[in-house]
Formats: sequence, structure tokens, C-alpha cells
Amino acid sequence: MSPVIGVLALQGDVAEHVHALRAVGVSTKEVRTVDELQSVDGLVLPGGESTTIARLAGIFELLEPLRAAIKDGLPCFGSCAGMILLADRVLDGEVDQPTFGGMDITVRRNAFGRQVDSFETELEISGIAGPPMHAVFIRAPWIEEIGPEVEVLARVTEGPAEGRIVAASQGNVMVCSFHPELTSDTRLHELFVQKVKGTP
Ligand code: GLN
Repeated sequence: MSPVIGVLALQGDVAEHVHALRAVGVSTKEVRTVDELQSVDGLVLPGGESTTIARLAGIFELLEPLRAAIKDGLPCFGSCAGMILLADRVLDGEVDQPTFGGMDITVRRNAFGRQVDSFETELEISGIAGPPMHAVFIRAPWIEEIGPEVEVLARVTEGPAEGRIVAASQGNVMVCSFHPELTSDTRLHELFVQKVKGTP
């Protein structure tokens, strides 16, 4: 059976992720309540503003249920702000900025600095066949430290941020610093759907 993939719909690139998921042929559901969270087979956490999404998750009483669902193995895919929200540790966050956690990584917010605040580059991504992906970075975070169970999927290969980790996975959780939902290349969404389908 085709899985239902939720998109956390509190703020950010919700419509763009829904569009990309539909393009790879899965059903989608916008998630704003615990009931909606419990009815999906996987969850996308969109790019946007991590502090706002975290604050809204508190107001919508989703913070603890989300943490619990991730701990219980709900497959999650976070892009940009979504990556920050799935990190166990955040640098340059707001004071006491909460995250849902789930991935043993330290993420630095707005890491790329002013001259490359927003930029685009080509990335080879482990597990994705074919030509490199065109990656759009918008006030993006990078991954500064990874735990032993984290697999690096992509690093920047040019410019001042060369070598920085910008995509990774650990168990059922996958993250990227950039915005695959803003291009027509759906290969990362497909990779996530494969992960969801492989989850018992
Ligand atoms: N800078 C944003 C944050 O801290 C992330 C930017 C994005 O998602 N495009 O949440």
C-alpha cells in the first residue's frame, strides 16, 4: 500500500513539499494535530523559521508528541529549518530554542555567513544516482558535529563552506541544509519515500 506522508504544517515551505511528494506518487497530509500526526507513515519537516515552528509546535501541543513519535521510529525528513528541528543540539539558536531532536548532530543556524547567505550549488548525494543535485541554500544551517551512528550524505565541494556537511541520515531520520522542495528534482523525496516504505 502507498504510504501517507505528513508535512508538518505550522509554518514554512509546506505547499512546496506537498507538491514534491505528490509528484513522486504518494498521498500527503498536512499535520497540525496529534491525531493527524498519528495517522501518517512518515513526516516531512519543511524549511521556514525553526524558532517559529518550534514555538507553534508548543502552542499546538505537538512538541512532546512529536518527540515521542520520532523516538518511536517515525521516519522524518527535515529540510533547512526542519534539519535544525531534528538536531539534538543547536548552535547560534535563540536562548532555550527547543528542538524535537532525534538525530545525534550539532547544527549551526545561519551558518554560511553573510556573503553566502543564500547561494546555489551542485551536490553529489550518497544514495542518489545520476547527475548531482542542484541545491538551493537560504540562510541555511550546516552540520558541525555528528555522532557515531550518523551517515554523511553530502558535503559542499566549493567556495568558503567547502567540506561542510549539508545532508545526513541516522536510522529513520534524514536531513538536508538546502531546499529540495524548491526545485523540480524530486530524488531526495523519493529516497525518503523508500525509507518510509522500508519501515515496518
Ligand atoms: N535560518 C532559518 C532558521 O533558523 C532556516 C532557514 C530556512 O529554512 N530557509 O530556522
